[in-house]
Amino acid sequence: MRIVRAETLGMCFGVRDALKLMDRIADPSRVTVHGELVHNEVVLVELNARGFETVDESKREGLSNRPDVLITAHGVSDRERSRLEAAGKRLIDTTCPLVRRAHDAALTLRDEGRHILLIGKRGHVEVQGLVEDLPGHDVIESEWEVAVYPHSRLGVICQTTSTEQDVERIRAVIVERNPDANIRFIDTICLPTKDHQRAVERLIAQVDAVVVVGGKNSNNTKALAERASDRGRPTVHVQGPADLDPDWFRPEWTIGLTAGTSTLDATIDAVHDALLSIAASFEVEAMA
Ligand code: SF4
Repeated sequence: MRIVRAETLGMCFGVRDALKLMDRIADPSRVTVHGELVHNEVVLVELNARGFETVDESKREGLSNRPDVLITAHGVSDRERSRLEAAGKRLIDTTCPLVRRAHDAALTLRDEGRHILLIGKRGHVEVQGLVEDLPGHDVIESEWEVAVYPHSRLGVICQTTSTEQDVERIRAVIVERNPDANIRFIDTICLPTKDHQRAVERLIAQVDAVVVVGGKNSNNTKALAERASDRGRPTVHVQGPADLDPDWFRPEWTIGLTAGTSTLDATIDAVHDALLSIAASFEVEAMA
């Protein structure tokens, strides 16, 4: 069994910068993380062990007793920022600049008098942050949800971790179903997500099966796994080496290894090492 790593995989600069900033926080017991810093269990367990408190993403409307609130790389709306500041919280902001860019795009389109269509996952924290400052919007998860909108001007943006193929498909249906509308699209998929997705395309061409490493709730990790699976490759999504089942693998396979943008280098290396061990066990069996 051979293992090939994707040319681009693992943690993006947005998540790395957020983690670096947290490393510099002297007293984590003052800080509440406003939702999951990243959708990655390994990272969250580490942060909690260091003394940070994490508010469940579905319970962010409450207020912690801690004085400092850390805004995650997913960002929040201006409305939410104001609510926290009005409650006397000191904000530590790790919003990724590429999420900010998506906010700016939404506000530009709003200021042009457009109704915003956001291609993304309904209820995802980044999507919540993007739409909360808008007077009106629709979130679209698939082409089946595209409607005929009663607005003459439409503005289309996307969640930063959407896949290019999904966005292209949905965008085409929006245009098709709203032929008389003035539609402006701003591509807000972030470059690291695109790089990961393009690298997985090249990887798929060289391998028989794919292992994707990342949090179960990570949107971009799930997208990588879906892409590999849609292209007909047996695919397994694991959070770490313990999730690998040696019986799933075949000695003759070349395995492609990729990982989402919130996956630690150490986790990827641990999965890679476990794959090498499985490969070595096949060699031992073949010699026996
Ligand atoms: S996935 Fe993209 S938008 Fe999200 S933190 Fe990473 S670089 Fe920023």
